[in-house]
Amino acid sequence: MTGPGLDWPARYHAALAHTFGAPRRVLARAEGTHVWDVDGRCYTDFLSGIAVTVLGHAHPAVGAAVSAQLGQLDHVSNFFATPPQITLAERLGALASPDGRPAHVFFGNSGAEANEAAFKLTRLTGRTRIVAMEDGFHGRTMGALAVTHHPSYREPFAPLPGEVVFAPYGDVDALRAAVDATTAAVVVEPVQGESGVKVAPPGFLSAARAITAEAGALLWVDEVQSGLGRCGEWLVSVADGVAPDIVTLAKGLGNGFPIGACIALGAAGELFTPGSHGTTFGGNPVAAAAGLAVLDTLRDEQLVEAARNLGDHLAAAIAARANPLIALVRGRGLLRGIVLARPIAAAVNDALLEAGWIANAPRPDVIRVAPPLIVTRAELDAFAVALDQAVTAVADGKEGEAA
Ligand SMILES: *Cc1c(COP(=O)(O)O)cnc(C)c1O
Repeated sequence: MTGPGLDWPARYHAALAHTFGAPRRVLARAEGTHVWDVDGRCYTDFLSGIAVTVLGHAHPAVGAAVSAQLGQLDHVSNFFATPPQITLAERLGALASPDGRPAHVFFGNSGAEANEAAFKLTRLTGRTRIVAMEDGFHGRTMGALAVTHHPSYREPFAPLPGEVVFAPYGDVDALRAAVDATTAAVVVEPVQGESGVKVAPPGFLSAARAITAEAGALLWVDEVQSGLGRCGEWLVSVADGVAPDIVTLAKGLGNGFPIGACIALGAAGELFTPGSHGTTFGGNPVAAAAGLAVLDTLRDEQLVEAARNLGDHLAAAIAARANPLIALVRGRGLLRGIVLARPIAAAVNDALLEAGWIANAPRPDVIRVAPPLIVTRAELDAFAVALDQAVTAVADGKEGEAA
């Protein structure tokens, strides 16, 4: 698909906002673990649209649910309710609250919106201070950005909604020192995906739960990336025995259909009252139908357990190559950060793409992978080989420039 009038990169540059840089490829279609570009080249997708397409691309269950819902009832305002919206809220509430605390769900269309809702909810406690984590990421809208740490994301947009302080991720003593009786909430990711797949040290989330409970502050767990099977658990926080006050979800929830959710539990679920927050599209029945199809498929095909085993398989397959340039593989389930011994991740990521693999380099020394949960062991093994070759080729100067 080339020729006059089809110069996609130039047209992209001319027509789109320059927020993302040049697209790596222009893609035309996808199925399962594979995507094809407009020139017909096939790639194996080990990024899943950044941890989104948990069921793989074009999953028939999602397609069927979305088409059927579009044909039956496409959109109503939030003056009305729909069965898929109510059912999905019940299902998410049950996941977040195995202890049976009441759960109240606010639906939006993205992770940032889920976190915006959570941020507003914390203000209704009557307190305004929030403790967020160094290296944390929560989205790009002003509220979500205010609790996001990365200075280059934040600084051009200051002043952001206050009063946010940052504590080192995983440091219980520092968190205890940062939280007091004026703290509205602590926001934390169980696994920090954007900062290179850093897993909270064992016990950190439970310590955060104890510290917030003692201070009368809310524990807001951002599971936008870690949740819904990605890390081998329905919710990492709940699996680790923690009972949060707020859980935010998005990425995997719609398998690519935009939807986000802010789940408020127990007393936190009583803070929003009519008029406190709103959205036109949030809770749309088509998005809710997509979410229900995802939850059903994850359960029926036992993909959450599969993610745990497949993730361990991938880590072992990479370790077995014993490439001295690969320092370690961290993460949980099928959200993995491959830490390189040198800051060559961008060039390695380019070499992988040339070899037909989609991954990403969130840090100069980290390759992140988040394959769909339907990935096969053979594909994981093939990736381990391709990664080994890409790392070696870049280090030998055969491919690209070491960044
Ligand atoms: C991606 C992400 C977000 C933001 O989600 P968007 O849909 O891009 O707004 C928030 N929190 C975490 C942990 C994420 O990984």
